[in-house]
Amino acid sequence: MTASKLTWFDADKCFIDGRWVKAQSGRSLPVEDPSRGIEIGEIARGTAADIDAAVEAAERALHGPWGRLTAAERGRLLLRLAGLVSARIDDLARIEALDVGKPLKQGRADALALARYMEFYAGAADKVMGETIPFSAGYTVYTLREPHGVTGHIVPWNYPMQIAGRTVGAALAMGNACVLKPAEEACLTSLALADLAREAGFPDGALNVVPGLGEEAGAALAAHPGVSHLSFTGSVAVGALVQAAAARHVAPVTLELGGKSPQAVFADADLERALPFLVNAGIQNAGQTCSAASRILVERRRYGEVVERMAARYRSLRVGPADADLDVGPLISERQKSIVSRFIAEGADLKTAATGEIVADAPRGGHYVAPTLFADVGPGHRLAQEEIFGPVQVVIPFDDEAEAVEIANGTGYGLVAGVWTADGGRQMRLAKALRSGQVFINNYGAGGGVELPFGGVGKSGHGREKGFEALYGFSALKTVAAWHG
Ligand code: NAD
Repeated sequence: MTASKLTWFDADKCFIDGRWVKAQSGRSLPVEDPSRGIEIGEIARGTAADIDAAVEAAERALHGPWGRLTAAERGRLLLRLAGLVSARIDDLARIEALDVGKPLKQGRADALALARYMEFYAGAADKVMGETIPFSAGYTVYTLREPHGVTGHIVPWNYPMQIAGRTVGAALAMGNACVLKPAEEACLTSLALADLAREAGFPDGALNVVPGLGEEAGAALAAHPGVSHLSFTGSVAVGALVQAAAARHVAPVTLELGGKSPQAVFADADLERALPFLVNAGIQNAGQTCSAASRILVERRRYGEVVERMAARYRSLRVGPADADLDVGPLISERQKSIVSRFIAEGADLKTAATGEIVADAPRGGHYVAPTLFADVGPGHRLAQEEIFGPVQVVIPFDDEAEAVEIANGTGYGLVAGVWTADGGRQMRLAKALRSGQVFINNYGAGGGVELPFGGVGKSGHGREKGFEALYGFSALKTVAAWHG
């Protein structure tokens, strides 16, 4: 069965130059329903030849109608796209539930975020300005923000709509022409986005989508000399490969990588407010979230109370198929389930504070893992150091502020951090001391916030996406120095 049966567009093709075209390999990849572990369709297996065609189409677009649009006109197209996405929220959530195993409410939230990215970047497109710079007598100096040209976008399977939306939305707003390579496990909503962009009236070649394997289509995109900027979201290991490939033609790269994000809870924290954030940030999207708060650090004076209250929530968590819309859905694949299960097995020497429950009628063959909360974990334990990418959290006690900072900063990652305390001075001190791309004070926004610049330090990557800041990353600054005497 082709994936088109599941969708309103030609899901078994690539979208290149404004048209649906077969992959030149003539080959396909399976689409699996993670809730059941069964194949439900096929998508195109794009390879280097399709990437070449997509990059050429994008280059033509830059020299054609797309390249001639004003910033305001690009903004209007993005706004139309936002409207079309908004009209399809339920369809997109249903497709994502089938393709990625997301509970429907999470799929809907992702689709709304996709619409919001387009709306945000629609409004921002004609508000990026240069500067005039005081210089020597007889000169006028100013700066221009110009598109890089063809931008490559390689995205993972965990939040396909949100990540495609944030990276492609900002790149299109700045006038780049995009080639998007979605993850092989989760291509359908990226193809849906291409179809809606076509319907919105984006000129041919402005947005191209080539599904395919990472080592084929992804590697070809990263190495393509016609690509002037690469945005990669995914694992540390592949991010390093992509950066090395791009370095061969000296293309700038944005790397949005993994994390082992902490939330530090001090004894004076408002626990009523904190508790839902502490657990949700670990189990949202079955823990397959780069900014998951997988480490909960708790001041020893209230440690027992926090562990017990988190454990009570864990015991109430129900895991089941995406269409049942429970607290937690399946993991993306059998492979991911076995990776996460191995991590949980490594916690045999630890205290398991609580687990959630896989519902009795969960389909056999689905990739389910019971959420697991480990307590009394030493900060150096592998489960407290490695990104697990599943519904697993560790709770670590600390004695004072200095120790909390040391543990929080002690993994090499630095994507997101949370601080829970009523002490204003401590809030400010920790905001500075934590090595992290984002710090949340008395709240925690795993993945949230279209408007908020996002990205990591250390192993979590470099460069920023989301918010207005992304527009600077997706443009090249030109300085013009005019001598007029
Ligand atoms: P992954 O690195 O395996 O795959 C990501 C993308 O890279 C996919 O599209 C894949 O096809 C492609 N790819 C794989 N090999 C490639 C190669 N040799 N050359 C070019 N492209 C290649 O990651 P994943 O398993 O899909 O995603 C999980 C990881 O992504 C986690 O580490 C997670 O933390 C991270 N992530 C980070 C963010 C963020 O914004 N910082 C967001 C989501 C996920």
